[in-house]
Amino acid sequence: MSQDLYDTIIIGGGPAGAAAAVYAARKRLKALLITEGFGGQSSVSACIENWIGEPAITGMALAAKLKKHVEAQKDLEIKSPEKAIAVTEKPGCIFEVKTDKNGLYRAKSVIVASGGRRKRLNLPGEKEFAGKGVAFCSTCDAPFFLDKDVAVVGSGNSALETVIDLETYARKIFLLIHHEEPKGDPVILERAEKSKKLEIIRDAEIKEIIGDKGVTGLRYEDGATGKVKELAVQGVFVAIGSAPNSDLVKNIVDTNQGGEILVDHLTAKTSRRGLFAAGDVTNDPFKQNNISAGDGVRAALGAYHHILNIQRHSPCFD
Ligand SMILES: Cc1cc2nc3c(=O)[nH]c(=O)nc-3n(C[C@H](O)[C@H](O)[C@H](O)COP(=O)(O)OP(=O)(O)OC[C@H]3O[C@@H](n4cnc5c(N)ncnc54)[C@H](O)[C@@H]3O)c2cc1C
Repeated sequence: MSQDLYDTIIIGGGPAGAAAAVYAARKRLKALLITEGFGGQSSVSACIENWIGEPAITGMALAAKLKKHVEAQKDLEIKSPEKAIAVTEKPGCIFEVKTDKNGLYRAKSVIVASGGRRKRLNLPGEKEFAGKGVAFCSTCDAPFFLDKDVAVVGSGNSALETVIDLETYARKIFLLIHHEEPKGDPVILERAEKSKKLEIIRDAEIKEIIGDKGVTGLRYEDGATGKVKELAVQGVFVAIGSAPNSDLVKNIVDTNQGGEILVDHLTAKTSRRGLFAAGDVTNDPFKQNNISAGDGVRAALGAYHHILNIQRHSPCFD
């Protein structure tokens, strides 16, 4: 176990964690950042057009900028790549963070900014054909589907962006949606619907992805008739949104049914005193880079005031 007692440990190097780290360092908190990597989910994006101050930037470039800004903080300690696997509270207002590299770090507060990951369908064939026709990131994998017929499963922004990414490569794009209409932002929907390759299959419930050496199709139930139909495709993109990376604290903070950490949106406080959360891992309904960065700032300032408070009033740190 490290002998150091940090004021705060920040978990995550996406926009939320990076912003929290910069602010914590500038408040002269003794801070440790633990992250598997920098940049977060949009690192794979070919073009981000709404990061304020940058009319257009690639995900990789944004990731590099976040890393550079974090590394410029003189007294900030960084453990990367390293994964936090559990956070526990010990007597005396101390949190312990355990990592996959046998690290055990102690702090007076923790900021969880571990973001989200893509959801899975958890249906037969999905795991078996992952990387053999089943894909989760169109920015990364769309070029592999040149002149192929591809199904996109999902109805929100990530599914629509997948359609847009595939437009350049695929021969035909089937968008299978559970509802009657896609639910994305109007701008993205408009762009996707312009595709001449797109065919929307509504009220479709996916049952199975099928194939031999690679994907050859999928089976879905047509809600209108109740019949199971087969669609011949060589690729299936699963784009049904993301799930929060909150497992490491799920036993010590309140979460909603989706596993998102419940926070007070004014203070970034969770149900556990001294534990703050920021960005996509929380129940903030808007999952965006700028919002996550703002959340990270709020959490760092929340942690700062928490430290001041316990130093003044608590028997823990006299
Ligand atoms: C393909 C794609 C494109 C997008 N494009 C845009 C866009 O154009 N504009 C926009 O505003 N938003 C976009 N988003 C959404 C945006 O990426 C997220 O809202 C944002 O990244 C959330 O930031 P975050 O810091 O909360 O979490 P994340 O970005 O998820 O970052 C989490 C960080 O925590 C680390 N981590 C996770 N678990 C652990 C652990 N246990 N221990 C240590 N480290 C851990 C990860 O490595 C990562 O660094 C996009 C998302 C995707 C998937």
